[in-house]
Amino acid sequence: MNQDLESLIESTNVTFNDIGGMNDLKEEIKLNIIYPFKNPELFIQYGRKAGGGILLYGPPGCGKTYIAKATANECNATFFNISIADILDMHVGTSERKLHETFQLARRKAPSVIFIDEIDALGNDRMKTGENVYARTLVNQFLNELDGLASDNTSIMVLGATNVPWFVDTALKRPGRFDKTIFVPPPEVNARAKIFELLLSGKPIENIDYKLLAAKTNRYSAADIKAVCNAAIDIKIREAMKTGQKGLISTQDLLQAIQKINPTTTEWLYTTENYVKYSNQSGMYDAVLDYLNKKENN
Ligand code: ATP
Repeated sequence: MNQDLESLIESTNVTFNDIGGMNDLKEEIKLNIIYPFKNPELFIQYGRKAGGGILLYGPPGCGKTYIAKATANECNATFFNISIADILDMHVGTSERKLHETFQLARRKAPSVIFIDEIDALGNDRMKTGENVYARTLVNQFLNELDGLASDNTSIMVLGATNVPWFVDTALKRPGRFDKTIFVPPPEVNARAKIFELLLSGKPIENIDYKLLAAKTNRYSAADIKAVCNAAIDIKIREAMKTGQKGLISTQDLLQAIQKINPTTTEWLYTTENYVKYSNQSGMYDAVLDYLNKKENN
């Protein structure tokens, strides 16, 4: 067995309780992944199989990878964390073989959740070489794996992630492949309060006004909130180095850190708004429009 491919397996102890917000997505995942994995006989009785694919898209740092990890953990599945760069190989046919062997490994270790980041890089313009035949054969290989043409995909769930869903090959979005395309937005106000609370739990803190912090961080991603917490911790460490006194992290420190860190989702939302205006004929991006139309998000 190829040792490299084994390294794509990650152990994960993240649970749904570690994830602030994302309630609709958690429900969707419970219904489509966790429940079928735990109760395969019920699905068989109704003539349905566990397994399939969901495509997650949204701005960076909003928890696509994190929820994929938690999903695998929640259903005791083997977690494969793959970026397309792990698969791509300059030698003809090698990328396809690697992809096939990865799926075979996942089938042997089933139930498995295969998370594939930057799924847009599979077959899009960035890969174009000459007539783009190489990119095409890799997409076709991926489609074969998803369709389970030659193999059994029972108990294999594929979660794809992308920041640029409009570049994802349309063949991947057909039924039976990525059946669902789900928007992972920046966390809403209650989720932000919860994320602050989760990130600061166990740290030396004063009584923190989480509601105030959440109100001041509209459009901050979870990763931005993590950066804010780290900046506040740095303020305290610097103070401790100067004074020799270990102070507690306060709301004020966090507000100061917020001033220094800008939300990173704004650019993504701006670009997406333009795309969505002209390419939403199928209603695929309605969730983004709903998000942008909500006054409190603007
Ligand atoms: P990218 O598009 O850049 O790959 P992503 O959407 O996959 O980003 P993650 O890597 O999942 O983002 O999230 C970044 C970090 O933010 C995570 O490692 C985790 O620590 C934290 N995080 C993300 N979402 C949440 C959440 N809902 N609750 C708590 N922490 C979160």
